[in-house]
Amino acid sequence: MKHISDPNQMSLVDRSLNAVWHPCTQMKHHESLPLIAITRGKGAWLFDEKDNALLDCISSWWTNLFGHSNPRINQAISNQLEKIEHVMLAGFTHPPVVALSEKLSALTQGHLGHVFYASDGASAVEIALKMSHHFWRLNNKPQKKKFVCLENGYHGETLGALAVTDVAIFREAYGELLQDVFTVSSPDARKAQAGEDAEDVAKHAAKKLEELLQSEHQNIAAIIVEPLIQCAGQMAMYSPEYLRLVRALCDRYDVHLIADEIAVGCGRSGKFFACEHAGIWPDFLTLSKGISGGYLPLSLSMTTDMIYRAFYGDKTQQGFLHSHSYTGNPLACAAALACLEIFETESVLEKNIERSNDLANAFAWAKADARIEHWRQQGMILAFDVKSESLKRPNTFSREMFTASLDEGVLIRPIGNTIYLMPPYILSTDEAMQMGASVQRALDRALA
Ligand SMILES: *Cc1c(COP(=O)(O)O)cnc(C)c1O
Repeated sequence: MKHISDPNQMSLVDRSLNAVWHPCTQMKHHESLPLIAITRGKGAWLFDEKDNALLDCISSWWTNLFGHSNPRINQAISNQLEKIEHVMLAGFTHPPVVALSEKLSALTQGHLGHVFYASDGASAVEIALKMSHHFWRLNNKPQKKKFVCLENGYHGETLGALAVTDVAIFREAYGELLQDVFTVSSPDARKAQAGEDAEDVAKHAAKKLEELLQSEHQNIAAIIVEPLIQCAGQMAMYSPEYLRLVRALCDRYDVHLIADEIAVGCGRSGKFFACEHAGIWPDFLTLSKGISGGYLPLSLSMTTDMIYRAFYGDKTQQGFLHSHSYTGNPLACAAALACLEIFETESVLEKNIERSNDLANAFAWAKADARIEHWRQQGMILAFDVKSESLKRPNTFSREMFTASLDEGVLIRPIGNTIYLMPPYILSTDEAMQMGASVQRALDRALA
């Protein structure tokens, strides 16, 4: 920190730039890019220090489901706060973690009946990877230690999760630190050639996976995928047929399927779990982001009874010896339970069908816009790409579009030339229309 005689004379933003190292940011860009100090939120809106309103079109990094300062979630957390704020989960348990685990298990009809907790998404991925390999060790197949991931996939930024991530910008500096993995073709529907559809692309991609498994399955523990939408990978969407084919290949070649639903779970895809679109269950399913409604850090990895049983025995080392200090935090579990109650009592998945129609209507202009291609939607995610020939300054487009949107009162964060909307599930029809019109004006400006 720079030496400052009186921090009170500096703006909050300048104090932040001085003392806070912001995530996923080249700090120098803030010399021109605004840093926004948010002091409160309500519903789909964030408010800055001067009480300027910003429509949160990306659910605060895909976490917020039911709006900021939601009364039911606020109440659930403050009720829990009166009881117990935290207790370790090794040797202890508590009502919210039990109720949450039972509800999640029931949502999978018991297929994934054992829930292991952590705090952030990357840790839930680490847990699934470690559990998978440990399972094979316990089954006398210790050579099954390699992981397969998809081209353009994203699973977090700790070293294990980053190893199975294929987003160059996040990996570049750390390649030397990462274990070797197999990266297979993405089923991204945008790859369809003339006369092909998303299902054809899915079949081609599954064929590539099959070739790899044929020769290498003895060394492979698991394949990890983001079901239906590779969110950080520019919202690449694909056919559920791919998941069905991968499930069958995993069964045939004795390889685990890890479904990373950290971004696409909790109703985002249109069903509670994205895997439900394909009618399959994975061997491991990770959740985070939306599970606490965007309130508190909470993540988890669910698995089957068969895998759980392999770890069950007299020897300590046969157990899954992994932990985080805040594993299964009661406040976070109480927030998650409140969210699941909202899903149940307010028929959220049914109502989201109308909301996703609102979203489509609000962005109908983009479908017809000659500057845009690959307009796509899955549930409460809508995305489209600005054609490369329409970009005047390709390298700075995402930042310019971000800034232009702020001026229009909407918060979006384009990924490269992909503009996407991932709003909370409380958006009114009017708010959706406002979002569509504001983004259109911002795009006109960013491309001017
Ligand atoms: C965000 C994300 C992660 C990582 O979660 P963090 O909480 O940021 O560590 C992992 N997988 C997917 C699919 C994600 O979108």
